[in-house]
Amino acid sequence: MSLILAGQGIAPAATPLDDARVQLAEAVAVLGYDEGIYQLLSTPRRELTVSVPLRMDDGSSRLYIGHRVQHNFSRGPAKGGLRYSPGVNLDEVRALAMWMTWKCALLDVPYGGAKGGINIDPRQHSKAELERVTRRYTSEILPIIGPERDIPAPDIGTDEQTMAWIMDTYSVNKGYTVPGIVTGKPISLGGSHGRASATSRGVTHIALAALAHRGIRVDGASAAVQGFGKVGHDAALFLAEAGVRVVGISDQYGAIYNERGLDVPALSAFLRETGSVVGFPGSEVIDGTALLELPVDLLVPAAVEGVLHEGNASRVQAKVIVEGANGPTSPVADRIFEANGILVVPDILANAGGVIVSYFEWVQANQAYWWNAEEVEDKLAERMLAAWRQVVDYAAKRELTLRAAATILAVERVAEAHLIRGLYP
Ligand code: GLU
Repeated sequence: MSLILAGQGIAPAATPLDDARVQLAEAVAVLGYDEGIYQLLSTPRRELTVSVPLRMDDGSSRLYIGHRVQHNFSRGPAKGGLRYSPGVNLDEVRALAMWMTWKCALLDVPYGGAKGGINIDPRQHSKAELERVTRRYTSEILPIIGPERDIPAPDIGTDEQTMAWIMDTYSVNKGYTVPGIVTGKPISLGGSHGRASATSRGVTHIALAALAHRGIRVDGASAAVQGFGKVGHDAALFLAEAGVRVVGISDQYGAIYNERGLDVPALSAFLRETGSVVGFPGSEVIDGTALLELPVDLLVPAAVEGVLHEGNASRVQAKVIVEGANGPTSPVADRIFEANGILVVPDILANAGGVIVSYFEWVQANQAYWWNAEEVEDKLAERMLAAWRQVVDYAAKRELTLRAAATILAVERVAEAHLIRGLYP
């Protein structure tokens, strides 16, 4: 176990991959698996790095670097989003792929985990340039993706249009239409009702359950949401609809605060007009980092990894943290939150709504039979709340944090599948 123990509690974990490996090492230690299992599960099964040359609209060309990491296939095809962001790097994609494996196992959807990314800032490019970059990247990773191999989906910086281009590129190359190659597609191409808001819906189900679990009345509970994008935007709307007072919201340009609660639908309209939450009438501009330290009942980090760390965790005043983002909390911050009695609902549970409805979409596309919005939402709520109860019960029984309980349950399912399949040859 020396390698495993070396990963625990020594230096503060620096990268998302370090964080993911510490979480895994802790789960492996509790489960009593040997170092061989740790090595297998801490290392991606397959990864592909590709050059993505882009012809710009003005005729010049640029080179981006893309990755697709397939962390695990033990329980089914690899599954995970595609991220367009300037900071994308291989270690980040490896961590995100590992978290997808745990997320799918915890929610018992029959997938392994994967993630992809390109180091591109989509806001700096025209739609035509984004189309070319997406099609070129898809062609480069074509040999390793497929509805039975690895199924991409949206993540930061990508959307249903990106998925439509991937599906088209893949289908044209195959010679027939393959709707099951991606999820998060437009509904007109075989996407699922409820997919676009599924992560936010799931975050809301879990946030309401977690507040109740802590004995906090939902009606009038205060919340801060970091990020007003794919996850944070709809989560803030749904929380407000449920009676939660959303007092603080941030985006990449800054953060705003109103102690009496922000009018989230009006803020959404303001964002559409101006491109940012900053300057919303009736709100005070605060520092982006101060948002994480507001005296609120609920904090929803819904942006990127690593925002809650050794440097700020002891100043966090929220009673409940529900991770809309992947990997927002470092292992050191986790320990500080535990010591301070802050309940953290981990990403692999809290933000799993997206991949659950992705799974529903894949099932629907493969059967060419579509469900209505109500069916999707009911099934999503059922799955999220069943997993919530499972994690809470297991954590209580074993006296663990919710993150440890969730990771252990997930790692055990993946390891069990691996062990029963046996090692080839
Ligand atoms: N990118 C989302 C996530 O991190 C969704 C992945 C998917 O639907 O495959 O969970």
